Amino acid sequence: MLADAIPASHAADLVRIDASATDKTDAIRQVGQLLVAAGCVAPGYEESMVRREAVANTFLGSGVAIPHGLGEDKGLVRNDGIAILQLREGIDWNPGQRAHIVVGIAANSDSHITILRRLTRLIQDEERLQVLIATDDPAEFSRALLEDGTPAAPSAPAEDLAHTAAWIVDYPTGLHARPASTWVEAARASAVRLRVRHGEESADPRNLVALLQLGLRCGDEITFSAEGPAAQGALEKFVATVRSLSAREKEDAARAAEKRKTPVRCWTPVGSPRMIAGVAASPGLAIGPIHVLSAAELSVPDVPVDLVNGGAMLNEALVRTRAQMKALIDDTTRRLGASEAAIFKAQTELLEDTDIITLTCQLMVEGHGVAWSWHQAVQRIAGKLSALGNPVLAARAADLTDVGRRVLAEIDPGLVTGTLADLPEEPCILVAPDLSPSDTATLDTARVAGIATALGGPTSHSAILARTLGLPSVVAGGADLLAAASGTTAIVDGDGGRVWLDPSEKDLASARGWIADLTAQRVAEEEERGQPAVTRDGHRVEIAANVNRPDQVGFALAQGGEGVGLMRTEFLFLESGNTPGEDEQFAVYRAMIDALSAGNEERPLIVRALDIGGDKQVPHLELPVEENPFLGVRGARLLLRRHDLLEPQLRALYRAAKEGGKLSIMFPMITSAHELLALRKRCEAVRAELDAPQVPIGIMIEVPAAAVQAAQLAAHADFFSIGTNDLTQYTLAIDRQNPELAGEADSLHPAVLRMIAATVEGARTHDRWVGVCGGIAGDPFGAALLVGLGVDELSMTPRDIPAVKARLRGCDRGELNRLAAQALEMDGAAQVRALDGKAI
Ligand code: PEP
Ligand code: MG
Repeated sequence: MLADAIPASHAADLVRIDASATDKTDAIRQVGQLLVAAGCVAPGYEESMVRREAVANTFLGSGVAIPHGLGEDKGLVRNDGIAILQLREGIDWNPGQRAHIVVGIAANSDSHITILRRLTRLIQDEERLQVLIATDDPAEFSRALLEDGTPAAPSAPAEDLAHTAAWIVDYPTGLHARPASTWVEAARASAVRLRVRHGEESADPRNLVALLQLGLRCGDEITFSAEGPAAQGALEKFVATVRSLSAREKEDAARAAEKRKTPVRCWTPVGSPRMIAGVAASPGLAIGPIHVLSAAELSVPDVPVDLVNGGAMLNEALVRTRAQMKALIDDTTRRLGASEAAIFKAQTELLEDTDIITLTCQLMVEGHGVAWSWHQAVQRIAGKLSALGNPVLAARAADLTDVGRRVLAEIDPGLVTGTLADLPEEPCILVAPDLSPSDTATLDTARVAGIATALGGPTSHSAILARTLGLPSVVAGGADLLAAASGTTAIVDGDGGRVWLDPSEKDLASARGWIADLTAQRVAEEEERGQPAVTRDGHRVEIAANVNRPDQVGFALAQGGEGVGLMRTEFLFLESGNTPGEDEQFAVYRAMIDALSAGNEERPLIVRALDIGGDKQVPHLELPVEENPFLGVRGARLLLRRHDLLEPQLRALYRAAKEGGKLSIMFPMITSAHELLALRKRCEAVRAELDAPQVPIGIMIEVPAAAVQAAQLAAHADFFSIGTNDLTQYTLAIDRQNPELAGEADSLHPAVLRMIAATVEGARTHDRWVGVCGGIAGDPFGAALLVGLGVDELSMTPRDIPAVKARLRGCDRGELNRLAAQALEMDGAAQVRALDGKAI
């Protein structure tokens, strides 16, 4: 066994203290010769070690390298063993990698894994490594490598640190993921070490899973403690953050309780079919045959790779998933708001979890494949969360599994295939243990009439997505639901939270009648939204939607969108994880135009050219890291430098325009006229080459310089669309992502309104129309003010359209102009907001 690979009695023979080597190969040969001399291997093994190094890097990390022979030379190994060179000065192993301890290994695979596991543990112990690099005692190495034992328990010991503060949890639903992620953020921002203890269990508050595993419920007494310089102050600050969340948690719980009390108007059967009670998650009634989706057991093969490559693969997959999650958060924030995006933020926190990563590495070091190890780690930790018996944490387990699958898909895209691929052609009632947000988002709505899950919660992101897709849905139906046979007719009541099985003909007829009534009601509502936004005195404002994908167009139109005022194309790059080529982009733009031509009416589509940079980083483009990305090579500045990005996009756009539709192109982040002129020139060259029609070319006004010079820019632009999100950040000098300043980054600040007024004035000098596609366009009061400032078009998240239209229809243009003039004179955003309700 390798446990006694360096018996203390032989340590002096197998460990060369303060060795020196001319280079890496020399070091490998020396350590190989020690193994030969000790009889562990036959002569020649050291050359096999050198050859192996030429094909695979054996640098393990933290100054440790582990050369070993090629697999085909295993026959040269006589006894398992290791030998060590201590190189106090270190030696360059690879560029940027300096080895101080060279561990030559002669072992069969099992023993090899044992030694690797010990070494990986050792690598995490910086102090011990330093002792080993300096020691004069060979036996020190035997001791370090003999210690095996079980891996250290991941949780912190249940003792308090020097400064303490007690608190009784007063969050009505306990510590769930949303407040816990705020704790994590606060703890990570703190310079001192913090701990949270509940009874015998404690957790490092920088670690989300550890916090959730405490399973804190309302009323639990806990102790926060801290140590380090200025610990008392830091502890107080942390506790203040914890307390500051109480009010919102209580409000949310009260609102949820109120909702539960509100009697819902729902369908009741004529007879008494079998009923499974669950929780209403998405409204509406659906009828269809059940299709039971068995627990989507992923079969992840165990394909070991060498540890160095495995670690790199895992790291890359995590980096890519984080970028993907960031894109998802940004997109969801823009489309549905920050609170809907919070779930993906919490999922991203789960990716940072050191317990999951440590467990994965331990499994890898034990010799398992990367994907297998990651999957196991996620399953084990999700299993622990589910086992706590708290429904909120059970939902987080589902989140962990969901985000875990994203990572898995990044490690090997072949592993995560659509488990929903084999749905029947006929629209069915999809019954599943649970559905991940990714599953729900990709559901084919032509094949699914309704959803019923055994697990899950009404606030899960899957439920939110089901609502977005308009699919009636019931969650938490329990195991009985899964026991229903596929093919059984069922009625899913997404208002009452019930699933009715095997209904009689009479019940079916009554349910169909109910559905017909609901449909008629919806059509009437849509008609209302479908009315144009015309003020009482007859002034019409164009209302468009911010939509990035063709499959979202239908919903936008149903909400009353009259076209797409902003298609953010960077999401094509961010979501797919690769650079879409010209053909792929062409297909998407064409699909957008086609979706907008529903009912034989051509509606406008404004496609914004890539706005990469700032908060939208695309890892696979490998752009240089910037100190200050919001002020860096972003948007138009990047397009002008990267023809390889601009050309395919322009070609795809003009090819799409050639086939019809009302397409416009818009360039982001224009600061000066020369940028626009250069971009127009590129457009014209591509257009002429393709013999495509002219299309309007507009610009985003999102930099104060552009607002101030609007008249000069209007000479060259066909239209303006004001990006108030960026215009606010650049005018007020507030990073749009800084949560500390989020309350102050208000687009209704008079300084921003003055920029908008200047833009409108400049545009008028050349008779150009002005739109707004930043977030404030979707705020009914903001929209009213913008119209008062002279804005012609508003483009917003589809969900915001009905309220904005309703507000504008109740206004008078003259009143709005007066309101806007008043707002421009105010001191700050708060005073502007206070005008709401006074003037209109
Ligand atoms: C804006 O800045 O207001 C805008 C619409 O663009 P984005 O949010 O994509 O930066
Ligand atoms: Mg912008």
